[in-house]
Amino acid sequence: MDIKISGLSKVYPNGHAAIKNVNLEIESGMFGLLGPNGAGKSSFMRILVTVQKATSGTITMDGLNINEHRHKIRSQIGYLPQDFTFFSKLKAWEFLDYAARLSTSLKNKERQTRVNELLEQVGLLDVRERLANKLSGGMKRRLGIAQAMIGNPKLLVIDEPTTGLDPEERIRFRNILSDLSQRDVTIILSTHIVGDISSTCHNMAMLNKGEVAFKGSPEGMIEQVRGHVWQVMLDDEEFNSIKSRYSVVSTIPAAGKWEVQVIAKDKPHQDALHANPNLEHAYVYFMENELGVSLV
Ligand code: ADP
Repeated sequence: MDIKISGLSKVYPNGHAAIKNVNLEIESGMFGLLGPNGAGKSSFMRILVTVQKATSGTITMDGLNINEHRHKIRSQIGYLPQDFTFFSKLKAWEFLDYAARLSTSLKNKERQTRVNELLEQVGLLDVRERLANKLSGGMKRRLGIAQAMIGNPKLLVIDEPTTGLDPEERIRFRNILSDLSQRDVTIILSTHIVGDISSTCHNMAMLNKGEVAFKGSPEGMIEQVRGHVWQVMLDDEEFNSIKSRYSVVSTIPAAGKWEVQVIAKDKPHQDALHANPNLEHAYVYFMENELGVSLV
């Protein structure tokens, strides 16, 4: 699906501007929306899935304006909100069956097949009889994805999917999304976790205080910090001095000294050498140098 967003703004009734003149193009594959808490990610996602209206600006999906074709657009979108909850009396499969009754016109047998297919895809077939709200956090999130996929959407919108998950579940969840993105579904994923983006998304935008601070590929964002990541061995005194002046992104004790990585525009110490940048470095660099937000 081809999504074009132009001049998008959202001002809440209390006067707070959560989205400010956002312009973005999102093509098929997996798109990551990165930003700290309060950046406007959820507001943006809710507008995209038509559960909330923008104050101004336009969004088109495959050429259709989402305000003028609300019904049709909705039938093509699967949405997993951040605070998704399940009915307490339904088993995992019953919940999906219920979702299928609401959003598809599949008959009994086809519906059963579709439900089992999706349970298998998200690795929940063996817990299909378990009550949905008794599943672990990661399993609930996977059931949420199955629910969002039930109507075969062209666009899947997922808000903060890995918050609170342990590393194993986080990786499992990312793999499920990568797998789905190979099947002609556009996936938009919002997150404040840099690792979610670097391992899965080919394109991304970074949102800060409602504005797009960066758009492009994760590699493109990393390039912006190249030359500003330094590595140096320091004793206690030097370490304290560096820490008070620069953003220290990693510290490893080594042979009575500290192996330190620092983000700095200029060489922070005479022995400092350039280190290979990654997306986390780029995120710190953007937040601190470009946007003036102190992270470390
Ligand atoms: P994120 O998902 O990146 O954490 P949100 O879209 O939830 O960001 O919020 C962006 C900003 O808008 C925050 O400052 C938040 O307090 C504010 N906000 C969100 N929803 C509302 C609302 N319904 N009314 C007023 N302000 C809101």
